[in-house]
Amino acid sequence: MSTYTEKVLKMVKKRNPGEAEFHQAVEEVFESLDPVFERHPVYEEHGILERLVEPERQIIFRVPWVDDEGNTKVNRGFRVEYNSALGPYKGGLRFHPSVNVGIVKFLGFEQIFKNALTGRPIGGGKGGSDFDPKGKSDAEVMRFCQSFMTELSRHIGFQTDVPAGDIGVGGREIGYLFGQYKRIKNKYEAGVLTGKGLDWGGSLVRTEATGYGLVYILEEMLKDNKISLNNQKVVISGSGNVAIYAAEKITQLGANVIAMSDSSGYLYHEKGIDLELVKEIKEVNRGRIKEYLQKYPDAEYCDKCTDIWSIKCDVALPCATQNEMDADAAQQLIDNGVIAVGEGANMPLTPEAIKLVKDNDLFYIPGKAANAGGVATSAIEMTQNAMFDDWTFDKVDQKLKSIMVNIYDDASAVAEEYGMEDDLVAGANIAGFLKVANAMIDQGVV
Ligand code: GLU
Repeated sequence: MSTYTEKVLKMVKKRNPGEAEFHQAVEEVFESLDPVFERHPVYEEHGILERLVEPERQIIFRVPWVDDEGNTKVNRGFRVEYNSALGPYKGGLRFHPSVNVGIVKFLGFEQIFKNALTGRPIGGGKGGSDFDPKGKSDAEVMRFCQSFMTELSRHIGFQTDVPAGDIGVGGREIGYLFGQYKRIKNKYEAGVLTGKGLDWGGSLVRTEATGYGLVYILEEMLKDNKISLNNQKVVISGSGNVAIYAAEKITQLGANVIAMSDSSGYLYHEKGIDLELVKEIKEVNRGRIKEYLQKYPDAEYCDKCTDIWSIKCDVALPCATQNEMDADAAQQLIDNGVIAVGEGANMPLTPEAIKLVKDNDLFYIPGKAANAGGVATSAIEMTQNAMFDDWTFDKVDQKLKSIMVNIYDDASAVAEEYGMEDDLVAGANIAGFLKVANAMIDQGVV
């Protein structure tokens, strides 16, 4: 690392002690940027890195609510409004017991570059709570969301900050959050949240977008190298929104998804996963993936979800959570002949796993590029809301596809320009950085 990136990284670690995932996300971006600072001293002169790593605003708040038994509960709520150089803060809300300020900052930091890559006018932000929706009744989730929004509503707006879903926040939660926002503001401000229901301002394809986008960019990268997805064996971790729709699209393209997982374990079905059943278990019943065995006793279940990477496959799509694939897992995949890894989740590979994947010349698409389809389609939802319009599935799907192809082209071209051909990590980091950094210079020291 250059003295500039090293100096700022040291400062980040000192100023944000104990936030391991945040340090990891910053370091991963910084590692790509040295060639930029060598060529263009202007970014250092304008203190771009020092400003980039510091969120514009961080909000931490109490979220009190009452459970079904009448007990008072208190969770912690977060919104990190990270960077607004390119547009209103944009990024999801995560409800999961692991959420803390360091996690939200890592996600918010990644979101800045991811959103820049989409080419849409959206800044970066992220939020959430350590609330665990698992095992909660609908009424409890509703009361929690209402309490969360009672505070959050002061900080967001369609031109200020536009949250959406992430882990633990789907259509149900967005509905409760929107209802409370509308009630507090006495305003039908559709563009304040994305991922809304289709009858009340949501966009077609938003549900499918992250998973579909992941497969579109993977397809493009492989096509560029004359490889087809047809008949490839695919392992996908997770069985949430990203995993399910990645599985759907890649199956449509002729591949065979043989394993999926949830936080309790993984499922291996050699003849191919029955996705409609997974959808029913996960989306309709909010159940556990193990229930799949009731219909398919020939499938195998193992209760250590991270062991999913021991299954031999051609394509691995980590779509669960951060650091879910470590060096041992990556090595197993490599030993088993994997050809491509695409990150549906945010930062699912540890730095050691990334190194292995790169050293072994796999086709590797980092999350900032690979999972940008969700937020890109959120931006398309905002456009429709601003126009009081709704577009057809095909129109949105085509736009999503062209955004994903553009991200691939952009990141590849920038990687080549900086002498790191085929390194999409460097390409995505540099391409995203340049857009944000140039806007920050244009807008002065703010
Ligand atoms: N949570 C998603 C992401 O990580 C989507 C964010 C959004 O749609 O604003 O990009």
